[in-house]
Amino acid sequence: MLVLKFGGTSLGSAERIKNVAEIVNAHDNCVVVCSAMAGVTNALEQVNKLWEQDDHSGALDILGRIQYRFDVLCQELFYEQDIITANCREVKEMFAAVRELLQDPFSGYATGNVLSLGEWVTSRIINNYLCYTGKVSTYVNALELIRLNEQDEPDPFDLARRIKETGSFNEPGIYITQGYICMDSQGRVSNLKRGGSDYTATLLGAALHASLIEIWTDIDGLHNNDPRYVEDTMPIRELSFAEAAELAYFGAKILHPSCVWPAREQNIPIQLKNTMDPDARGTHIQSRQISGGIKAIAAKDNITVLRITSGRMFNAYGFLHKLFQVFDEFKIPVDVVTTSEVSVSVTIEDTTALAGLVLQLQSLGRVSVETNRSIVCVVGNIQEHLAEVIQAVKPFSVDMVSLGASSNNITLVVPHGQKVEVLQALHNLVNNNNVNRQESWIQLQA
Ligand code: ADP
Ligand code: ASP
Ligand code: MG
Repeated sequence: MLVLKFGGTSLGSAERIKNVAEIVNAHDNCVVVCSAMAGVTNALEQVNKLWEQDDHSGALDILGRIQYRFDVLCQELFYEQDIITANCREVKEMFAAVRELLQDPFSGYATGNVLSLGEWVTSRIINNYLCYTGKVSTYVNALELIRLNEQDEPDPFDLARRIKETGSFNEPGIYITQGYICMDSQGRVSNLKRGGSDYTATLLGAALHASLIEIWTDIDGLHNNDPRYVEDTMPIRELSFAEAAELAYFGAKILHPSCVWPAREQNIPIQLKNTMDPDARGTHIQSRQISGGIKAIAAKDNITVLRITSGRMFNAYGFLHKLFQVFDEFKIPVDVVTTSEVSVSVTIEDTTALAGLVLQLQSLGRVSVETNRSIVCVVGNIQEHLAEVIQAVKPFSVDMVSLGASSNNITLVVPHGQKVEVLQALHNLVNNNNVNRQESWIQLQA
């Protein structure tokens, strides 16, 4: 069994959906995980925002425009008027159900349903289109399979049990399902956070013991730097699970931050592929660590640094325990940690409870808060290149440096305003290293 996931960028127009159908049609036994058509989830977030602000007509107006995009998609995908009408009717029904929920004063919780609409409608149209092209496919409801636990994390054992109980994938065939959407522990419609379809794909891949998980997107694999900020980035052909997990977690948008672990646990390779160029090699992610310099650099924004300084920390035990208990209490994950003899610096992303958190931390020492920071993560054989990395970032005001225990990464915290320059400086270092490696190879050959 194969799992194929198609991101919104691969599903942005009728033309692209036709490409996707061609890729799927080459298989007889696979699960196809569909994201929402490009831009739809952003618009749905806007719907929720306006609704919460009591701008109901603004919210309904955006919903109407999204529905119109799907109507146009149906007109472009299908030729016969009766088929177009039938598809538009299905779209209309799905939108009507969500509108009703939004307007029902007793429903109480429509946010998750609104956000799920993109994946619902897109996957339904793709399923209909595949059937239209003569491929027999089965539509599977992801809400019956993926459920979050009390910690808001998907539970792989629960997923495996539900797959077995529902018999959803018992027979070989083509299955179409929705990425991103799931139920929460209270039984409400929820999701795996932005970009979550990658996570759905790896969770399903692991539960089904797939032979391969293919993640199809708009670029030919994971690049050695962020192509949105740096020019001349190059795809990396091979990455280990550990390297890919690190890059995904620290901002390589091509992969959802948590999506690598289910594949890693079951040792199922992930292949990143380009829908626009299906023959391009892409990136292969598997268990083996392949040596070779600095592999890639990624960055994530909206980071806040908290520094807790206390004389009581010096030579005393239990301080860190008390400190992290506070983060535990507020359920706030910490990304990067550095310590000196009298201070601890940590980074957090979630600042919704910042005021309360700081107040509580003040019982342990003096607390300073630095906002608007970015984490830059360098992945690869760091031991060999540590001095060069430090040299490359010397002109910048680096707030924190952390060398990963696995020594396959070094993490730097810098002011957001310097992020692009830091990415560029590290990119130059990678390019110089590659040139040097090629030169020594040529000398060896000579
Ligand atoms: P999809 O809709 O297929 O899920 P995403 O937008 O989530 O696509 O991810 C693909 C995008 O990730 C690329 O278009 C690229 O701009 C961005 N990206 C960021 N960092 C990287 C990287 N290191 N390698 C490749 N793409 C990256
Ligand atoms: N549609 C969702 C998003 O835009 C999930 C995904 O694309 O993976 O975040
Ligand atoms: Mg994505």
